[in-house]
Amino acid sequence: MIYDLFIIGGGVNGCGIARDAAGRGLSVFLVEQNDLASGTSSASTKLIHGGLRYLEHYEFRLVREALIEREVLLKAAPHIIWPLRFVLPHHDGLRPKALLRLGLFIYDHLGGRKILPPTRTVDLHTDVTGEPLKADFTTGFEYSDCWVEDARLVVLNARDATAKGAIIRSRTKCVSARRDGALWTLVIEQNGQQETIQAKALINAAGPWVSSVLGAVVGRNDPDKIRMVKGSHLVVEKLYDHDRCYIFQNADGRICFAIPYEQNFTLIGTTDQDHKGDPGKPEISDEETDYLLRSVSEYFRMPVTRDHVRWAYSGIRPLYDDGASKAQEATRDYVLKVDKPDDGAPVLSVFGGKITTARKLAEAVMDKMKPFFPAMKGSWTAKASLPGGAFPYSEVDARIAALQKAYSFLKPAVIRRLFRAYGTEAEKILEGARFANDLGQSFGPISEREIEYLRANEWVVTADDILWRRSKLGLHMKPEEQQALREFMEPTQKSKPKKTAKVD
Ligand code: FAD
Repeated sequence: MIYDLFIIGGGVNGCGIARDAAGRGLSVFLVEQNDLASGTSSASTKLIHGGLRYLEHYEFRLVREALIEREVLLKAAPHIIWPLRFVLPHHDGLRPKALLRLGLFIYDHLGGRKILPPTRTVDLHTDVTGEPLKADFTTGFEYSDCWVEDARLVVLNARDATAKGAIIRSRTKCVSARRDGALWTLVIEQNGQQETIQAKALINAAGPWVSSVLGAVVGRNDPDKIRMVKGSHLVVEKLYDHDRCYIFQNADGRICFAIPYEQNFTLIGTTDQDHKGDPGKPEISDEETDYLLRSVSEYFRMPVTRDHVRWAYSGIRPLYDDGASKAQEATRDYVLKVDKPDDGAPVLSVFGGKITTARKLAEAVMDKMKPFFPAMKGSWTAKASLPGGAFPYSEVDARIAALQKAYSFLKPAVIRRLFRAYGTEAEKILEGARFANDLGQSFGPISEREIEYLRANEWVVTADDILWRRSKLGLHMKPEEQQALREFMEPTQKSKPKKTAKVD
């Protein structure tokens, strides 16, 4: 068979493009060399946001598109996306209050906000959000953005793509792509076995590998360059009890978030460091750890130290190299480059982009593909829900309560997690169960039934796929529970216990 599109990369962009294209009637084959979302798309700050900071770099197009996307995505996946409120304390000596007010006025009005509440001024000496902060901070501004379970967004896009006929192969690497007249001949490799696929167009959505795919896989001598910018996060013990997030200004002009995370933790991020070499397994440096701890300790009454740190993760932003002098100033907007010789098949490469704008990016990719597939259908994803998300976001609590009533033998925290992960599909996992035993063997918070569901529907192979990408149960499960899960899923792991949570 000759496919219409062959996509390299199972991150948010590759899977988003696969979904959009399959829904327009194109035949799609996508390969991901590791697990889905194993690259940058599981290492983000997990915000569906306009990007307040980008206003300072005059990125109005990007900010407007991203602001509009907040409510589009909230409607499409209200189980894995939810509204958040951010408190931005005014800091004497940094941006003046009038500038903060102006920025937030633009932020409130640029992007067709209908559901999310507007900005308000907060007296930090009387409001609960002032309690964990030093007394010098008297005024704050509270505004809206959204949270997303980033790796789950990727998998839901992949699932919707397959529901519309796409083939998604994880743990499969594209090792070579050669033009054969009007077709591409792709060599893919899985478990040491090679296979050849033919396609009319190639989409290079390899994230931080986009240039190396153009060079080593496609064989281009002068591939367009990306700027790899590492960003790291710390997960620390919960620093405060309310549900608001903080956005702190740093003296270097950057900002730093502190966000309630996974019930028991606070997420702190992020950094901007130029990265050279293999983007494979980026790790936080001591310098980044110190920087993040220093940034938030400038604001919190109680200094945040290495003793609070429970985990850290890092990702590489695959930014388009626009020649900006500082990493933090390089554009966050996406750039799509099409290369098509007169008589040859096209390749489109994706540079940059955000989790927030991946759906719009996929639409832009389809616009570029239109001349090659004139019969394809029009755009459709703006009003379509993702798997498990076909309900109004205002019903989340009622639906969790109904699930709890139907499966009262499960603890409220388990029911909430299942609904937040799978939405209406949680029912499929639990169906028919009347007692905990009906769900099979238990590994702390996760049951055999859920594992089987993940294996059957979400390309899960290893314990890490579950512990760190389909969920963050790695933060909650005891070492012996994690080991039991490993032995269950990967029997060869029996004799080699693996440390997963990085605790400094
Ligand atoms: P990736 O997710 O890296 O996917 C590319 C995939 O291609 C990889 O999984 C890789 O394994 C695969 N691949 C490469 N070569 C091959 C090959 N030869 N064969 C098969 N597969 C291959 N965005 C937001 O909207 N909100 C945020 O809060 C946010 N915070 C961020 C914080 C940080 C620290 C970082 C680094 C980024 C953040 N972003 C955020 C940006 C966002 O995460 C990225 O833009 C997005 O995840 C990039 O997705 P991608 O699909 O292009 O790349």
